[in-house]
Amino acid sequence: MFKQLQEKHQLSILLILSIVSVFGITPFIIIRFIENNIVAALIDLAIVSGILTLVGYAHYTKKPRVISAVIALLVNIGVIAIIITNGINSMLWVYPVVAVTFFLVKPIEALILTLSNVAIIASIPNLFDVMPLNSYFTTNLMLAACAFVYASFGNKQLALLAELNSTDPLTGALNRRALNDDTLAAISRAERYNSTYLLAFLDLDFFKKVNDEFGHAEGDRVLKQLVSITNSHIRESDKLYRFGGEEFVLIIPEIPPKEQVSFINKLRETIKNELKTPTGNSVTVSFGVAAWVPGTTVASWFKRADDAMYQAKKQGRDCAVFSND
Ligand code: GH3
Ligand code: MG
Ligand code: MG
Repeated sequence: MFKQLQEKHQLSILLILSIVSVFGITPFIIIRFIENNIVAALIDLAIVSGILTLVGYAHYTKKPRVISAVIALLVNIGVIAIIITNGINSMLWVYPVVAVTFFLVKPIEALILTLSNVAIIASIPNLFDVMPLNSYFTTNLMLAACAFVYASFGNKQLALLAELNSTDPLTGALNRRALNDDTLAAISRAERYNSTYLLAFLDLDFFKKVNDEFGHAEGDRVLKQLVSITNSHIRESDKLYRFGGEEFVLIIPEIPPKEQVSFINKLRETIKNELKTPTGNSVTVSFGVAAWVPGTTVASWFKRADDAMYQAKKQGRDCAVFSND
């Protein structure tokens, strides 16, 4: 989820960057051609067309991370080339390049790239005859430090947003939004690799009674404990989602058919043994399970698991029913 959010965010940044570079640099290409400064005009032209091509490619492939890194290198090398060609007149371009580098790559990568670039520019001969070297260093380091702090803070906020967006606040399980995205992803993965996938509905048995007998707060504790027990008995690739109320969904990839029944029943027994009311009575769970089959859609997969759950409740609860469709 974080990766998806980050990719969307990065694609928007790339789009803004391409618009800014067209409007910001194109006038200089024209001016430099008019002034007969052909080398500088061609360097600017290469930067703008390079950015546009790469941004177009990133949108086409939906893989902005590598392309952003290539663009960061392009603008950093570009600014060195333009300063070597034009001298002190193009010196101020260092500042937008420092800033934009922090939009393009991870803060630590941007810091390394910026410091290297600033040092390379400082070593260009004759450049600092007219500009004080210490001011150049101080202003660039201040800009890099501020951009580093701001970019790191932004990344943390994005991670938090992704977590809030995909997590159920009470239990910490993944939420229904994440379930919808991940079910679609599971279907396309299963179709591509013909892999095995189980989708299991979990529903607490007679949970209303727990609330009625011990109160809503105790009911909440039972829900949290169910999530904690389940998460500690599944693999990292198995994901638990809160579907709503006292209903949960498990998506289990890559589970060999002959292990499916025993895995689900072992989990069911574990929950029964560990999940207790304050008076020590077991709280049990019913399972409705459906394996991915060719032609499965999100709706059909949920329906088959839900029908199996209905059968499990009908059979007296505390059991697992597998859909045989
Ligand atoms: P069954 O075995 O048929 O599933 O019976 P049940 O009592 O578990 O099912 P029912 O649908 O009748 O009741 C579900 C209960 O879950 C009712 C509702 O108050 C409770 N519930 C739903 N969400 C929450 C929650 O967030 N916290 C608490 N404490 N209770 C919840
Ligand atoms: Mg229930
Ligand atoms: Mg229910």
